[in-house]
Amino acid sequence: MAKKLRFQSPTGMHDILPEEQYYFQRINKVSEHIAGFYDFKKIDTPILEDAELFSRGVGLSTDIVQKQMYVLKTRGGDFLALRPECTAPIVRSFLQHGMFNLPQPVKLWYFGPFFRAEHPQAGRYRQFWQVGFEILEEKSSVVDAQMIQIFYNILQELRLKNLIVEVNSIGDSQCRPYYKKLLTSYLKVRESALCLDCKRRFRKNPLRVLDCKDEKCQQIKSQAPQILDHLCDECNHHFKEVLEFLDELELPYRLNSHLVRGLDYYTKTVFEIFSDVNPDKKNAANGSQVNEGMTSLAMGGGGRYDALAKLIGGRDVAAVGGAMGVERIIQAMKARRIKFAEEASAQIFIAQLGNLAKRKSLKILEEFRKEKITAAETFGKDSLKFQLNKANKLGVRYVLILGQKEALEKTILIKDMISGKQDTVKLDKIVDEIKKRLKRR
Ligand code: AMP
Repeated sequence: MAKKLRFQSPTGMHDILPEEQYYFQRINKVSEHIAGFYDFKKIDTPILEDAELFSRGVGLSTDIVQKQMYVLKTRGGDFLALRPECTAPIVRSFLQHGMFNLPQPVKLWYFGPFFRAEHPQAGRYRQFWQVGFEILEEKSSVVDAQMIQIFYNILQELRLKNLIVEVNSIGDSQCRPYYKKLLTSYLKVRESALCLDCKRRFRKNPLRVLDCKDEKCQQIKSQAPQILDHLCDECNHHFKEVLEFLDELELPYRLNSHLVRGLDYYTKTVFEIFSDVNPDKKNAANGSQVNEGMTSLAMGGGGRYDALAKLIGGRDVAAVGGAMGVERIIQAMKARRIKFAEEASAQIFIAQLGNLAKRKSLKILEEFRKEKITAAETFGKDSLKFQLNKANKLGVRYVLILGQKEALEKTILIKDMISGKQDTVKLDKIVDEIKKRLKRR
């Protein structure tokens, strides 16, 4: 057996190898395109933030803050956290840069790495990438629906099918405290039957019990009082409108009264999007989150967070947003064997034979680059057979061959790989000639 190398990537953190980059680029590109259509502007925030931003914003009792945050103490004694999510940093940035003075709403999107000290398992990493969208300073329910539509559109553009949107409302500071009380009394008499995690959750944040996937808690959950029956008039009206917009958009959604999303900052609408990754039942054991009997994988989620800005900056900012996991999307794409046509490869290949030819080829390559014609080469290899084979594999239409004789005569050979025809052209005319031929195609 091969000896294990001394240095490996840290547990739960992975290299994004060239073949994976292709998926990342695709997801980024589709997101960028959709962001442009809906007029979102890109934002990047630092990888590190004041740890208190998350303990205040995301919430002290949440799993993210309690168990999953990487916190480091700086030499100066500050506590910084590797960002576990991006909503709190974006609201921090919105407040810090006075974006409330910009025309409202402010629409922002991001694509970057996040960090959570999770138990490593398939589909769950300690460093993972998210693409996210936020609409700030907008309280209308129409943007809640639009946010869901945006995520749905991205996944559809990536050709993921059988998408399921789950929605719920978790109320606001008017109605949630009362519901929490109801739920607490319901759970209190059943506490001994809860799973270990829920025994802890129940004291700090009873809503999280509704989110539990443990077998033990399912029966208790199913008979628990439902928040939708206890929303205040405003939240009820808001949620009704969101559902009407979703109906209008013909988005396939279902109500999930157990969806709570686990973060303190959410108010009113919450949603999650799942993709069925097991259409042919071949990929069942894929680390997938099983959802009501179906092998579906959580692509992303989000919701409204009207209370967050006040928690971290003392100012009310109505907002809605969400994020999707890039590795999860890739997992779903792979499970569905989604492949895209290769990006346009090289348009020409430059083959060379002999020292003088090699020197001249280097220069020709630069001329093509300036003209934005993509050219492939293997200048390190001298065998013409190898070079032609490579050109063949790349599927380029024109191979330029520069041998010793051509180099001395200041000419070059163009071989059309489809017709097999060969023409000799003056070296200083080659770029123009190729431009002409490429235009003709
Ligand atoms: P959350 O806001 O925590 O629901 O995260 C949004 C999405 O990010 C999830 O639906 C997943 O697709 C993805 N995600 C969250 N945590 C991880 C993780 N540890 N590893 C990989 N993807 C994750």
